[in-house]
Amino acid sequence: MRFRWVAFAVVLLALAAPASAFAYENGRLPQSALAPISHPSVSVKLEKDAAASWNAMRLCSLTSGGPDIYPAGSRSAYRTYDQQIYFWNLYQSGRGNLAARPGTSNHGIGRAVDLANPSTMRPVIDRRGNYWGKIEAPSESWHVNAVGDFPNPNVGTSQRYPRVRRTAGGSRASGCIRRVVREAERLLGLSENGYFSLSDVRALRLYKSQHGLTVNSVVGRATWISLRREARRTSARAIPASSTGTDVRALQGLLNERFREIGDPSRFPVDGVVGKRTTAAVQRFQRLRGLKPDGAAGPRLWAEVVKPARTAMERADATARKAGVAE
Ligand SMILES: [Zn+2]
Repeated sequence: MRFRWVAFAVVLLALAAPASAFAYENGRLPQSALAPISHPSVSVKLEKDAAASWNAMRLCSLTSGGPDIYPAGSRSAYRTYDQQIYFWNLYQSGRGNLAARPGTSNHGIGRAVDLANPSTMRPVIDRRGNYWGKIEAPSESWHVNAVGDFPNPNVGTSQRYPRVRRTAGGSRASGCIRRVVREAERLLGLSENGYFSLSDVRALRLYKSQHGLTVNSVVGRATWISLRREARRTSARAIPASSTGTDVRALQGLLNERFREIGDPSRFPVDGVVGKRTTAAVQRFQRLRGLKPDGAAGPRLWAEVVKPARTAMERADATARKAGVAE
């Protein structure tokens, strides 16, 4: 027990140092040093780095089916100097919880959160950590602190439209953040390595300029909506989002080859253009191989179209064709 308290004092001392070296006065952080975190009804903020690590932890909890995490109220994350005076007076008069002397609270540097529901939310922090932990106010289960400097860009507060920007993901990020980055890379037709590199940013800017979006280096709400709409439209039409003219030409060449194998005399141009004839050929091929004839060149079609004709069904089809029987 004694050891624990010594360790605790060391942690407090370690905390005191960065706090005093902090660029701004406690309780007087400018808006530029703060960033929002999510709350169901009020606006709450933390110091930027602390907000970035909090938002990543929250996104990972939500996307893995875990609970939401948020502060109890508007004064439960970053707390201005005046708000600290308010809590200090409550505490002094015996009507409030333990409060730090104004100007010394970790809430005043935007690196502490009082959880709305410690029983469901503390396990998220205890398990995921993600630069957050229980390091002071041991008697207050709801009070948690940001620990250290978070290396990843802020994903923001939206689960559906997490922000992706340069250096997002990579080996130091949680698996769920790498998955988000991979999704953006896939929709942009880039190689999916889970790290948003400078070349990914270049491709993103090109996509934005070609799709009437404000050209900047962030995958945000408007970009996600555009990318997902594009993916739906192209998969409904025939060809995956990442297809280039080269992919289409490869597909057309393979379809011609497969039809030739079964004695089908029809040929269509290998021109890299997805038109009615290509879509119809895809559908006919799908019927031949027992796939759903939706005309979509998804992974199953690609897996099938590279295989030479062998099935009895195809041979029967070829025989019928040679005999001049209509399809
Ligand atoms: Zn607190």
